Amino acid sequence: MPDLHMGEAVYRFQAEVISRVIPAGQPGNYVLGERNESGEFFPKLIGRSDTDVRSELLNKVGALQYAFFKFSNSGPRNAYDLECAQYHTFGRQLENKAHPVATPGSGNTCFLCGL
Ligand SMILES: [Zn+2]
Repeated sequence: MPDLHMGEAVYRFQAEVISRVIPAGQPGNYVLGERNESGEFFPKLIGRSDTDVRSELLNKVGALQYAFFKFSNSGPRNAYDLECAQYHTFGRQLENKAHPVATPGSGNTCFLCGL
Protein backbone atom coordinates (compact mmCIF):
# COMPACT_ATOMS: atom_id res chain seq x y z
CA MET A 1 0.00 0.00 0.00
CA PRO A 2 1.50 3.38 -0.97
CA ASP A 3 1.85 5.95 1.79
CA LEU A 4 -0.59 8.80 2.38
CA HIS A 5 2.07 10.65 4.44
CA MET A 6 -0.42 11.25 7.25
CA GLY A 7 0.85 8.96 9.97
CA GLU A 8 -0.89 5.89 11.37
CA ALA A 9 -3.96 7.37 13.02
CA VAL A 10 -7.37 6.62 11.50
CA TYR A 11 -10.50 8.18 13.02
CA ARG A 12 -14.24 7.59 12.80
CA PHE A 13 -15.87 10.12 10.50
CA GLN A 14 -18.17 11.65 13.13
CA ALA A 15 -18.62 15.28 14.16
CA GLU A 16 -17.62 14.73 17.80
CA VAL A 17 -14.42 12.95 16.75
CA ILE A 18 -13.50 15.63 14.22
CA SER A 19 -14.02 18.34 16.82
CA ARG A 20 -11.89 16.47 19.35
CA VAL A 21 -8.86 15.56 17.21
CA ILE A 22 -8.48 18.37 14.65
CA PRO A 23 -7.31 21.78 15.90
CA ALA A 24 -9.56 24.73 15.00
CA GLY A 25 -8.66 27.25 12.33
CA GLN A 26 -5.71 25.38 10.81
CA PRO A 27 -5.14 24.59 7.13
CA GLY A 28 -4.38 21.05 6.09
CA ASN A 29 -5.41 17.87 4.32
CA TYR A 30 -7.99 15.16 4.86
CA VAL A 31 -8.69 11.76 3.39
CA LEU A 32 -12.03 9.97 3.70
CA GLY A 33 -12.29 6.25 3.24
CA GLU A 34 -13.03 2.79 4.57
CA ARG A 35 -11.19 0.01 6.44
CA ASN A 36 -11.07 -3.70 5.72
CA GLU A 37 -11.31 -6.52 8.31
CA SER A 38 -7.64 -6.22 9.18
CA GLY A 39 -7.98 -2.49 9.78
CA GLU A 40 -6.19 -1.33 6.68
CA PHE A 41 -7.38 2.09 5.53
CA PHE A 42 -8.47 2.58 1.92
CA PRO A 43 -8.63 6.21 0.76
CA LYS A 44 -11.67 7.11 -1.33
CA LEU A 45 -11.79 10.91 -1.33
CA ILE A 46 -8.99 13.42 -0.72
CA GLY A 47 -9.18 17.13 -0.07
CA ARG A 48 -7.64 20.10 1.67
CA SER A 49 -8.56 23.41 3.22
CA ASP A 50 -6.33 26.46 2.97
CA THR A 51 -7.95 27.94 6.06
CA ASP A 52 -9.68 25.41 8.34
CA VAL A 53 -9.61 21.68 7.68
CA ARG A 54 -11.75 20.99 10.76
CA SER A 55 -14.65 23.15 9.51
CA GLU A 56 -14.29 21.66 6.05
CA LEU A 57 -14.73 18.14 7.44
CA LEU A 58 -17.55 19.11 9.82
CA ASN A 59 -19.43 20.48 6.80
CA LYS A 60 -19.13 17.11 5.05
CA VAL A 61 -20.36 14.89 7.90
CA GLY A 62 -23.83 13.68 7.02
CA ALA A 63 -23.44 14.59 3.36
CA LEU A 64 -20.76 11.96 2.71
CA GLN A 65 -21.15 8.33 3.75
CA TYR A 66 -17.56 7.35 4.56
CA ALA A 67 -16.79 5.66 7.86
CA PHE A 68 -13.24 6.87 8.54
CA PHE A 69 -10.86 9.76 7.95
CA LYS A 70 -7.26 10.76 8.34
CA PHE A 71 -5.90 14.30 8.43
CA SER A 72 -2.76 16.39 8.72
CA ASN A 73 -2.14 20.08 9.28
CA SER A 74 0.30 22.16 7.26
CA GLY A 75 0.45 25.48 5.44
CA PRO A 76 -1.39 25.89 2.13
CA ARG A 77 1.69 25.27 -0.03
CA ASN A 78 2.62 22.01 1.66
CA ALA A 79 -1.03 20.98 1.82
CA TYR A 80 -1.33 21.47 -1.93
CA ASP A 81 1.83 19.43 -2.58
CA LEU A 82 0.51 16.61 -0.40
CA GLU A 83 -2.88 16.66 -2.07
CA CYS A 84 -1.20 16.42 -5.50
CA ALA A 85 1.01 13.53 -4.34
CA GLN A 86 -2.02 11.67 -2.99
CA TYR A 87 -3.98 12.34 -6.16
CA HIS A 88 -1.26 10.98 -8.40
CA THR A 89 -0.55 7.99 -6.13
CA PHE A 90 -4.13 6.90 -5.41
CA GLY A 91 -5.98 8.39 -8.39
CA ARG A 92 -7.45 5.13 -9.66
CA GLN A 93 -9.20 4.27 -6.42
CA LEU A 94 -10.29 7.82 -5.56
CA GLU A 95 -13.64 9.35 -6.30
CA ASN A 96 -11.84 12.61 -7.05
CA LYS A 97 -12.14 12.91 -10.81
CA ALA A 98 -10.36 16.24 -11.24
CA HIS A 99 -6.80 17.23 -10.40
CA PRO A 100 -6.43 19.26 -7.17
CA VAL A 101 -6.80 23.02 -7.66
CA ALA A 102 -4.09 25.33 -6.38
CA THR A 103 -4.88 28.16 -3.99
CA PRO A 104 -6.29 31.02 -6.11
CA GLY A 105 -3.62 33.63 -6.77
CA SER A 106 -0.82 31.49 -5.36
CA GLY A 107 0.73 30.61 -8.70
CA ASN A 108 1.45 27.14 -7.29
CA THR A 109 1.72 24.30 -9.76
CA CYS A 110 1.74 20.56 -9.25
CA PHE A 111 5.31 19.36 -8.59
CA LEU A 112 4.53 16.06 -10.29
CA CYS A 113 2.75 17.02 -13.51
CA GLY A 114 3.13 20.80 -13.73
CA LEU A 115 -0.63 21.44 -13.86
ZN1 LIG B 1 -0.39 16.86 -10.90
